[in-house]
Amino acid sequence: MTDRGGSRGCDACGDGELVVFADLGEIPVLCGVHWAGQDEALAAPVGRMVLAYCRACAYVRNIAFDPALMVYDTAMDTNLHHSPAFQEFSRELVAHLADRFALAGRHVIDIGCGQGEFLRELCEHAGCTGRGWDAMYAGRTGPDPSGAVFHTGFAPRGPGLGHFDAFTSRHWFEHLDDPYEFLVDLREQADGRHVRGYVEVPDACYDLATAGWEVIYPHVSYFDAYSLCRIVARAGWRVEATGTYFSGMFRWIEISANGPTPADRPRLPGRAARDAQLAAIESFAVRHAKEREQWRGMIGDLATNGARPVLWGAGSRSVQFLAAADPERRLTAVVDMNPRKWGRYLPGAGHRVDPPASLAWVQPDAVIITNPAYRGEIGRSLAELGVSAELLVA
Ligand SMILES: [Zn+2]
Repeated sequence: MTDRGGSRGCDACGDGELVVFADLGEIPVLCGVHWAGQDEALAAPVGRMVLAYCRACAYVRNIAFDPALMVYDTAMDTNLHHSPAFQEFSRELVAHLADRFALAGRHVIDIGCGQGEFLRELCEHAGCTGRGWDAMYAGRTGPDPSGAVFHTGFAPRGPGLGHFDAFTSRHWFEHLDDPYEFLVDLREQADGRHVRGYVEVPDACYDLATAGWEVIYPHVSYFDAYSLCRIVARAGWRVEATGTYFSGMFRWIEISANGPTPADRPRLPGRAARDAQLAAIESFAVRHAKEREQWRGMIGDLATNGARPVLWGAGSRSVQFLAAADPERRLTAVVDMNPRKWGRYLPGAGHRVDPPASLAWVQPDAVIITNPAYRGEIGRSLAELGVSAELLVA
């Protein structure tokens, strides 16, 4: 275990020093992996989460992160594309980027491409070609009819990356041990060409101002608008625009290198945004502990009163929630849309994942979700299953 607390400089602004503000103890490391047996799930590796922040830019990092513990392979499934809400959001993003980056005839690289859905759609919609890398990519490698080429593994660093006109990286940047070096390398590989970039991360404003179920071991860094702009600019990129999507849970940033100076300077998040984030950071440890206790109590009460409480969702947020709020497995069931998870067990507290259809039989009185963005679609699915339960958002 590495603990470089106290003396680590800020990865984002390079000015401040990281100061510890919350120690969440040991949490599941492989929160995207599901196991064949409960014993294996319970024996899954744990790692320490010690959150530290920079007073100058509000960047947050797990300073106890040990890259040696974190294994990415095709057994891991962090795919968000099973959700119609996410699919719709991705479709809109594809149309927006194709237009905004004028991608027709260009070459796009997607770093951390997941199962390739986004890059495939981007190539088809924009008429561009692309290459995608992900150590979790479990599909067919090589050329794809869409114009994309897929690789299972990490994207090469340095000149091995090859030519690109634009890069996209969704929900990968926060996993990197050295995010600054990643951005510097990409800019250097642009080699003087005008290139564009799109990076999307969980918005740390949301994560740290709420209970913090998205504070998971694979996430090394927690960026809000201000710290994300700082790290991008320090790495020599120009920030073109930034904003949030998906009920404020995702933060995106459009960046460029070697381009013409725009006539209008974009309105970027200022000190007020940073100060709001600093306030959220200050109260995080107390809020996290309180939420954890409240949910533990509520699940216990619901179970005791025969309400058969269940959790809908077995993604990494849910794994973190279950480990914190239901260590004794008082929930009647955990269900998920992803068939790859059915009948398998989650790390942390060892819950089994069942298909949502099983709720027609369970008839729970309370369904807990950890992601408010899915409230609508889960509510509709419950109605279709003939389940009338109270929907509780953790
Ligand atoms: Zn900083």
